[in-house]
Amino acid sequence: MTRGIVALNAGSSSIKFGAYRIDSDGSPVHVAGGKIEKIGLSPSLLVRTDGGDVLLERQWPDGANLEHEQLLGEFIEWAIGHLGEHRLVAVGHRVVHGGARFIEPMLVDDALLGELGRLSALAPLHQPHNLAAIRAIARILPDIPQVACFDTAFHATRPEVATRFALPRRFHEQGIRRYGFHGLSYEYVARHLAVIDPVLAGGRVIVAHLGNGASLCAMHCGKSVDTTMGFTALDGLMMGTRSGSLDPGVVLHLIRQMGMRAEEVEALLYHQSGLLGVSGLSSDMRTLEQSGAPEAEDAMVLFAWRAAREAGGLVSSLGGLDGIVFTAGIGENDAAMRARICKGMAWAGIAIDADANAANADVISTPDSRVTVRVVPTDEERMIALHTLALLERGA
Ligand code: ADP
Repeated sequence: MTRGIVALNAGSSSIKFGAYRIDSDGSPVHVAGGKIEKIGLSPSLLVRTDGGDVLLERQWPDGANLEHEQLLGEFIEWAIGHLGEHRLVAVGHRVVHGGARFIEPMLVDDALLGELGRLSALAPLHQPHNLAAIRAIARILPDIPQVACFDTAFHATRPEVATRFALPRRFHEQGIRRYGFHGLSYEYVARHLAVIDPVLAGGRVIVAHLGNGASLCAMHCGKSVDTTMGFTALDGLMMGTRSGSLDPGVVLHLIRQMGMRAEEVEALLYHQSGLLGVSGLSSDMRTLEQSGAPEAEDAMVLFAWRAAREAGGLVSSLGGLDGIVFTAGIGENDAAMRARICKGMAWAGIAIDADANAANADVISTPDSRVTVRVVPTDEERMIALHTLALLERGA
């Protein structure tokens, strides 16, 4: 009997997942993937094969107050049934924060769960959901090993200077430092690049993960040397609903002069800012592009300007630039936004081939562009599956 594993990426309102069978050569082969969406509102579950065939579809009524555990239960029941002759041997999870200590995937036990729970204070909007999924699986499948894969871990290779804030030293010792996120996505892109373009993978590359959450990673030889997210996933680029970097004096002003409470400031910076806040219309880039409203244009201009500006900073961290890789929802699909960002970086010797860009081609730079620009679809679930498998093999 062959073995199967499931990779889960549990967020606040959605859970993405991939089911894999383990091939005879030990590599994970994708069997199906999908998403549970709108948790807390009107949840739906959709599972598809790689070819796009729908394998399972469920829609719950509005107000069905279903928690992660019930929804996951439905999916896991399906996964076990569908894996069929492939026996489920492990479940891997994306865990946003591993703190300073957990810099590689870990087998989950009660002690680890306790430590990760304490890190929830550093990622209050993500970590509790990641851990809720782990607890749910532990209840549904108590004998199945679970593996936690950390979004912060990929950035453990950065020099110390890239991790410090200019605060008194004791704060750094207490864990108030720049961690960086989206590590599973960056690791997947780094590995993939090493296969499709080993020369570029050995150089100085900025990877732009542009989805609802967005960040940039400066990589040298496939290792993170700097990144735009910091202590939390709020730092750096402008995002769908998050402000990105902000003068900390603004936060003080909101509290002291405008009388806002901490929870109100948190809601403002995480949920009401970014593309949504500036456009006043939507956090969704597609919607803004179709809108035609001047406020939507303002939001897109600022998004591109901030991305090019932050990328300029990372060029200094890298000491030059050989390539840019675009990934995630906007990075993979939005030719107009890629063109805007690259235009803002033309000074670095970047020239885009308009046709290749419009086609979301693998390489979108012109042959004489000094910097190679690529599009690589990310696959965080595969990275979780690879780590889970590697850890199981090591354990065995
Ligand atoms: P998440 O961070 O939630 O995983 P995604 O990586 O799915 O987010 O990215 C979502 C963003 O990608 C949204 O702003 C969406 O509008 C944008 N996007 C997806 N497809 C396209 C497209 N074809 N053109 C423009 N933007 C797109």
